[in-house]
Amino acid sequence: MQNTVHIIGAGISGLSAAVRLANANFKVHVHEATQQAGGRCRSYFDAATNLTIDNGNHLLLSGNRHAIAYARSIGTEAGLVGPKSAQFPFVDLATGQRWQLDLGESRLPLWVFDEARRVPDTGVRDYLALLPLIWASQGKLVADTIPCKGTLYDRLVQPLLLAALNVDPPEGSAGLAGAVVRETLLAGGQACRPLIAREGLSAVLVEPAIKLLRDKGATIRFGHELRELGLSAGRLSELKFGEDTIAIGPNDAVVLAVPARPAASLLPGLKTPSKFRAIVNAHFRYDPPPQMPPILGVVGGLVEWLFAFPQRLSITISNADRLVDMPREELAQAIWGDICKAAGFQADMPPWQIVRERRATFEATPEQNALRPGASTAWKNLFLAGDWTDTGLPATIEGSVRSGDRAADLLLAALRA
Ligand SMILES: Cc1cc2nc3c(=O)[nH]c(=O)nc-3n(C[C@H](O)[C@H](O)[C@H](O)COP(=O)(O)OP(=O)(O)OC[C@H]3O[C@@H](n4cnc5c(N)ncnc54)[C@H](O)[C@@H]3O)c2cc1C
Repeated sequence: MQNTVHIIGAGISGLSAAVRLANANFKVHVHEATQQAGGRCRSYFDAATNLTIDNGNHLLLSGNRHAIAYARSIGTEAGLVGPKSAQFPFVDLATGQRWQLDLGESRLPLWVFDEARRVPDTGVRDYLALLPLIWASQGKLVADTIPCKGTLYDRLVQPLLLAALNVDPPEGSAGLAGAVVRETLLAGGQACRPLIAREGLSAVLVEPAIKLLRDKGATIRFGHELRELGLSAGRLSELKFGEDTIAIGPNDAVVLAVPARPAASLLPGLKTPSKFRAIVNAHFRYDPPPQMPPILGVVGGLVEWLFAFPQRLSITISNADRLVDMPREELAQAIWGDICKAAGFQADMPPWQIVRERRATFEATPEQNALRPGASTAWKNLFLAGDWTDTGLPATIEGSVRSGDRAADLLLAALRA
């Protein structure tokens, strides 16, 4: 008999679990509270700019192997595009200095030994001082592990770790930072090629998964919010959605792939991260000047990363709680000022949109990282997925896909045991 599995939440974690289980010949039912799949990784039509935009600019690196395998499994690996090699142009808005970090294509971080390719005004010794991050324990702070000042920190370590952890790097978990460094910088340029979903997050990472699932006979129900779990004697027996209740049969299982806060309220006693940080993205309807790189790192200003899309310039600011209540027009003007400086032109502010995701990621501090649960639960047919579960990575697409894959694999093993 075909096993049935219910996936609660159609974000990247839920979709990756659903795709894996549909491919393993399970009857899959996905239940999503909102009217759209993708969760924190989605596209939508924005009337202010008259463009389809993403809720946030999502950057992947070629070393994100689970995320890339997920894209391959839904037929969209080619939709993740980027420069041929791991080159990162940067500008310092405070000094006007520009440079390009060139990590090459090697499997080893050989660029560190080449003065022309590493960060200007840095030496090999600066990079060696980062080594303690690689074996740092989860409980340690970045500040207690590596130097958090100096040219290398300001121009590379701070921008990289800020983007990855979404906290001010010194307060971040050295264990999580170390995982990022091991899987990217330490793995050489071949693991650091920047990749973006140029046609949009939903077109590349979400809609093709929904189509694949439907083609395999899965059902996807939108506006179907799980309200309560019926738990009994070591098993999950019911899913209560308000108007309807679904009984979970003896051969059925459930992956709860909702964010940390709803997970904690659905499963009393579950320990989850409880503090979150915002990310601000701004989108401007403006044709990028021809010489503009697709991704530009920006230091010494408000903006951190500037992305050039067809008809649109977009920026990201991480760890952005301080900007969440700033008047929108004022924030847009400040950001546009940075964009003009970084891209080297002057223009009136075009139509714009600001997206402030207040709880973009859990706070990647040692204290919050310690609250992340694994994928198994006390109920043998209930598994957890989500970027906030204990993936060993900060809250990223790579972590989300890993969590979905792991929940699916544990579920498969449990049902086949
Ligand atoms: C602005 C922004 C920028 C980011 N930038 C990057 C980046 O550059 N690179 C990167 O790798 N990562 C980035 N991330 C992180 C990445 O988006 C997340 O890690 C990932 O999308 C989380 O996926 P998830 O499935 O775990 O959770 P979610 O996307 O939150 O999905 C959970 C789903 O569950 C649904 N749900 C909730 N409650 C219920 C319920 N009771 N019943 C049914 N459904 C429910 C929600 O509606 C949602 O669809 C960024 C995030 C944001 C917000």
